[in-house]
Amino acid sequence: MEDKYLTDNIEDDLAQLNAVLSTKKLSGTSDAVGRYETELAHYFECSHAIALSSGTAALIASLFVAGVDERSEVIIPPTAPIMTALPVLALHATPVFCDTEISGFGFDLNSVICSVTSRTKAVITVPMWGYPFDVSGLARFCDQNEICLIEDAAQAHGSKILDRYVGTMGRIGCFSTHDRKLLSTGEGGFILTNDRAMADRIRCFVQFGMMGGVDFGLNYKLSGLQAAIGISRLPLIDAQIATRTKNAERIASTLGSSGFEALRVEEKYTANFYALVLRRKDFGPVTSRTLSGLKKYGVPSETVRYDYRPLYDYAILRKFRTVCPNSEKTINSIVTVPVHPGLSDQDISTIIECLHEEG
Ligand SMILES: *Cc1c(COP(=O)(O)O)cnc(C)c1O
Repeated sequence: MEDKYLTDNIEDDLAQLNAVLSTKKLSGTSDAVGRYETELAHYFECSHAIALSSGTAALIASLFVAGVDERSEVIIPPTAPIMTALPVLALHATPVFCDTEISGFGFDLNSVICSVTSRTKAVITVPMWGYPFDVSGLARFCDQNEICLIEDAAQAHGSKILDRYVGTMGRIGCFSTHDRKLLSTGEGGFILTNDRAMADRIRCFVQFGMMGGVDFGLNYKLSGLQAAIGISRLPLIDAQIATRTKNAERIASTLGSSGFEALRVEEKYTANFYALVLRRKDFGPVTSRTLSGLKKYGVPSETVRYDYRPLYDYAILRKFRTVCPNSEKTINSIVTVPVHPGLSDQDISTIIECLHEEG
């Protein structure tokens, strides 16, 4: 079973690459980058899109323009991957862990409110595997307290809350277009924001502070060649989500007698099904039988592959540990299975059989 889904519109990719190659301008200031940004803003129904060299660059740029420095605290969820925390450490800020809701990956608002101090500069939400959650209460709280709400939507391209895209509900949304994500440019990322001033400062930061020697900045630009691939693949997101949703529904509808159920997505919300998240019905820990079953049946699972655990259990984050019981319960009781469009009917039957026999 393929662990990775590759798009198969190579002809479109090549046509867009050829168009950029023939302009002889391949750098981050090529016209293709501007075109890609316009199309991103249009797709996500957002005022400003800025292409960057990675999701990591997007997070670092966002934290920088939010004013995060070595005296700052940044609130993050323990359910996030290490990639969310490293940019906080890159700016020498202090990551502060707040608990998530029992039902998913969104913050427990009370936990955030209790953890805010005068040094809190940003809160990062992370919709894992593209599962959306309501951030309106948190957004209001952050606005009132002059805290920058950053959505790390690296896994959530196309996920929605009602009719709004995840990544456009906070002050800044960060995306990755690494090969494993729903939109891939090989390596790459982008930022969405409706805040004009923020957009200007991010643009300045990603190109050496415009080289005026007044504003600090680095080179975090996406190249023209990568933008060409982004232009070619952006229109494929919706079809991908449709197939992923169909695959997820097929697996979810057969879980009846197994120990798992599909993690709930609120009605009127759209999950992009970056992966299908299955949670033990008894909320207990996933058993070693299930883990070895996934291996035996050859089902690639992200929770297994990345040894999913609370962020504060990683050595470089251990000194920031605060116990978050809901997050730990979620982390221990879930597994993910793939639902990407590269799966065959046989692959999906294998996943279903595996969950029945070993789940
Ligand atoms: C992939 C990912 C990142 C990092 O993106 P890169 O483009 O690989 O730098 C950050 N956060 C989350 C949640 C991710 O899934």
